[in-house]
Formats: sequence, structure tokens, C-alpha cells
Amino acid sequence: MRPLFARYPFFEAAREAVRSADVDLGTLVNSADPAVDRAHERVKRALLEGTAASETPEDWTETQELLSYPIARILVSLVDSSPAIDKYAQAEAKTAIERLEADLAAGDDDLRSTDTDRLDRDRLLAELDLSAAVTPDRSHEGAGRQRGEVDTTRARESDQFWIDLGPYLKLTSAEWRPSWKLVNREVWDGRVRVQRTGLNRLLREAIAQRVAEGLPFEGLSREDPIATALSDELSDIERLLSQRTTIEEIDFVARELFPPCVENLLQKAEAGTQLEPFESFSLMAFLTGIGMDPDEIVAFCADASLEPEGIRYQTEYLADNRGTQYPPPTCETLAAYGLCHNEDDHWTVAGDPLTYYKRQLDERGDSVTDWREANA
Ligand code: SF4
Repeated sequence: MRPLFARYPFFEAAREAVRSADVDLGTLVNSADPAVDRAHERVKRALLEGTAASETPEDWTETQELLSYPIARILVSLVDSSPAIDKYAQAEAKTAIERLEADLAAGDDDLRSTDTDRLDRDRLLAELDLSAAVTPDRSHEGAGRQRGEVDTTRARESDQFWIDLGPYLKLTSAEWRPSWKLVNREVWDGRVRVQRTGLNRLLREAIAQRVAEGLPFEGLSREDPIATALSDELSDIERLLSQRTTIEEIDFVARELFPPCVENLLQKAEAGTQLEPFESFSLMAFLTGIGMDPDEIVAFCADASLEPEGIRYQTEYLADNRGTQYPPPTCETLAAYGLCHNEDDHWTVAGDPLTYYKRQLDERGDSVTDWREANA
């Protein structure tokens, strides 16, 4: 089993590897193979935390990691909710792009590497049928290169690309920020110029479309033997989702009522410390969950160590369905990460930061002013 397949299980070659290994998913599920536990974790983390990566990657073999993907697709099909499928696909895609960026960074450090289990952009473009549609724009490169210097630009990643208009329109959405609209873009000869980060955003969308293809599985019902065998995992996922969807919509920003876990993260960022990815996700999910849009969050965090571009990237997918699929992690999870110290014993009050904040607002909302009004 190639490590690459475990990290990018949506690749056609990875699916083929599963097919040719002649693995029967029904048998795996019935025998409570560890891949089922990993699939359970995969879907939960995707729907609730926005990542398909394991919290404990060292616990799983590459084969279990790869096999967890088709089982996760069965679980998501059984949840049978379009927003859940969309969120699952987006989380898989986001995780894949993060891995691509790590692979590219490692490749930049070692240009002569022949590591075939490290993904490069050309290979990903080929996988997504975008090879002909995307070309690096090197016109701005090399101006300062001196005669006799080794030209490494062919091996290195370009910072800018051209993408054909058709795929660009297929991969962007009218709901994206205005900067994605064609009137705000450089368009030339049927192609659109994008920065490296912009191309990654488009590739993320292409991966999400690939992951969502064929979901939910047609004809799969809860009466099927494989669904019955997955009933415990399914009930757990649905329980967690229903807990999340009962949080009433909040649209009020009062920092003085934030729970300590969120306040601690804000203070840490304001002290100039870089937040860990999970910390930053928890903070962004909370701020999005209380009704802030990306521009407001950028302004709200202006004095913190958070980059505006990073905030926009992270909140873009959180903002479209706030409070339903990507709430901040539960108090239990935050405690496991060491982000909650149960100040004032309020574990007894709420199971997650949004519920805690909603209760605070219900009790003391009349005595505080919305940050947006104060900063209008
Ligand atoms: S109990 Fe929950 S809301 Fe309160 S600080 Fe801990 S994680 Fe935050």
C-alpha cells in the first residue's frame, strides 16, 4: 500500500488499490476492523471540526487510513443530509490541500528529491483533469537572475498561474468574495490569472466535487446489513449533529460574555503568540458561530497574531452554514486539548462554548453593547 494513497484516498489510483486488494467492506465492518473506528472519527472530525485528519495519526496503519475513506463515505451517505455531505467533502478537500502544501514545502527544501510518495501540483492537476487548463505564469520571474546562476524555477512552484475560463467558472461560486468575480480579475485570451493561494482554493473545490461525487450512495438504505452493522457509529454522529443544530442562531458580539476558553485564545493571539491550528479553528468557529462575517472577524482580531488572509481562508467555509455543521468543538474536546480549565465550574452550565455564550447573553445581554455598534 503506497503511503500517498492513505493521504489522498480520493485519487483514482487509491480507489483502484482498494478494488484490486479485493477488500469486502461488509466483512470489514462486521469484523469491527480498526478502519471502522477511523472512519467514524473521520466523519465526526469532518462534520464537527472541519478536518478529515486523525487526532491520533500514529494509531492507524496506512491501510486502515485508506480503508476508512470508503467506509466514511458509507457513513456520510447514511446520514443523508446535503449540508452534511457538503461539509464532509469540504473537510476532506481542505485536509488534502493542507497536505499538498506540506508536500510542496518539503519539495522546495529538496529540489532533487525523487520521493514518489510526495504529491506535486502537476500530479494533482492531472488527477483532477486540470493539466491542460492550468499553466504557471513565469513572466514575472527571473528578472533578477544573474547570468550563470542555476535556474531552479522550473522545479520550484510558481507564484502565479493562468486557468482556463471554463474550469474557473465551474469551480467558483457566486457566493464567494467579490474578488473572485471576473470583473475583478485579470482575464486574457480565455484565461484567468490566479495567485498560488487562489489556485489552491480552486483545487480545494475540485477535490470537494470529486469527494462528493456519487454521495449519497444510491440504493443504500438503513435496512442494508452494512448499515445495520454501522448503526452505533451512525447514532453517535447523528447525536452529535443534533446537539449542534439545536443551538439557536446568535447574532451579537459581546466579548465580556465570551467563555474563558475563547477569551484565553484571544489574549494569547493578542500577546503575539501564534495559535496552533486547532486553537485557531476553535476561535474562528466560535466567532463565526456568534454571527460575525470574515470582515468583522478580521477587524475584531486586528491586534492579534492572526493573518487577515488566514482568517478569511478559514472562515470562508465556516460562514456559509454557521452553527449547523462546524460549531466550535465541545468543552470535552477543548479540555482534552488543554484549552479549557473549567473556570467557575461552568462545565455544569453548557457542553460547548456557543451554548455557554448563548446562556450568558440570555442572562446579561441587556447590560452589554454589541461590539459592532460600538465600532460602527
Ligand atoms: S467549559 Fe466549555 S465554554 Fe467553558 S471554558 Fe471550558 S470549553 Fe469553554
